[in-house]
Amino acid sequence: MDMWEAVIVGGGPAGLSAGLHLSRAGHRVILVEKGRLGGQARGLGRLENYPGFLSINSDRLMDRWLRQARLWGLKTCRAEVRRIRRAQQGFLLSLDQGRGLSAQAVVYCPGAIFKDLGVPGEKRLLGRGVFHEAGDEVSRWKGRAVVVAGGGEAAAHQALALARSARKVFLICRGEKIRAHRLLQKRLASSGRIVKVFGAEVCRVLGKKRVQAVEIRSRAGLTRISAAALFVLVGKIPARLPWSRSPAGFFVAGDAQGWPFRQVAIASGDGMRAAMECIRFLEKP
Ligand SMILES: Cc1cc2nc3c(=O)[nH]c(=O)nc-3n(C[C@H](O)[C@H](O)[C@H](O)COP(=O)(O)OP(=O)(O)OC[C@H]3O[C@@H](n4cnc5c(N)ncnc54)[C@H](O)[C@@H]3O)c2cc1C
Repeated sequence: MDMWEAVIVGGGPAGLSAGLHLSRAGHRVILVEKGRLGGQARGLGRLENYPGFLSINSDRLMDRWLRQARLWGLKTCRAEVRRIRRAQQGFLLSLDQGRGLSAQAVVYCPGAIFKDLGVPGEKRLLGRGVFHEAGDEVSRWKGRAVVVAGGGEAAAHQALALARSARKVFLICRGEKIRAHRLLQKRLASSGRIVKVFGAEVCRVLGKKRVQAVEIRSRAGLTRISAAALFVLVGKIPARLPWSRSPAGFFVAGDAQGWPFRQVAIASGDGMRAAMECIRFLEKP
């Protein structure tokens, strides 16, 4: 079993930032990511609020970030961390396919998981028209009608990104307004392709093999919207932590912290903070 000074779980902005800082400081560190390096920050389209860049494609930003971390010696491994246990000299991590790692310290950055609506048809059509993010495939919906469920900034962002290609984007919001900052509100209002429906909720997803329609319930009763896709952005739940109180040498960073403010720059700064705490722990005499 490989022994490392630190293992980072999750390769989103928090994990990459922690990995960059730890490896630059000269520590033997490996980052384990089960999906795409860059995490949820991949496929966001243009980021306009990452300091230092007027506007940058989020994939390009993540690629730069990864290159920088690797230049400083960060090792990465594609696997899912299934279990983390305490060991005599740190931690034992069980990965998929029977693999394992051991480390003196763990920086835990698995992000947050999208909430489901819990309506009929949603689970069955997941990945076949029901998604949580469009990623970099927005153009796939060119000329089609799509539905976004949610009333926060993530839903607003997603609706605006989709409206660049889709013929119509129905933004279904349970409340009476979208909870997003003024610039997003302005862009939503000026998009001729976004139809906001307030006081409504998705109650069924229809389609045999793929999404064909979405049923919504509003004050007007039940309405069926013909749509090729449903994007569910109704909040996130922070990934489960292995311990309710972190043991010495275990550091949590990024969206996994469970705070309400989820941004690339916040996750990145928090990854850096966790890496600094980790270094202090590793270098303790
Ligand atoms: C639609 C949408 C739009 C957004 N727009 C913006 C924006 O404009 N500006 C902005 O700043 N932020 C935006 N965000 C928020 C931003 O993407 C997140 O706050 C940020 O990515 C959080 O970083 P993180 O590293 O904590 O988690 P994540 O980016 O979620 O990364 C966590 C990583 O951990 C991996 N992982 C999880 N569990 C395991 C495991 N057991 N083993 C191995 N790997 C694991 C996951 O695969 C994932 O890659 C947006 C988010 C969404 C969903």
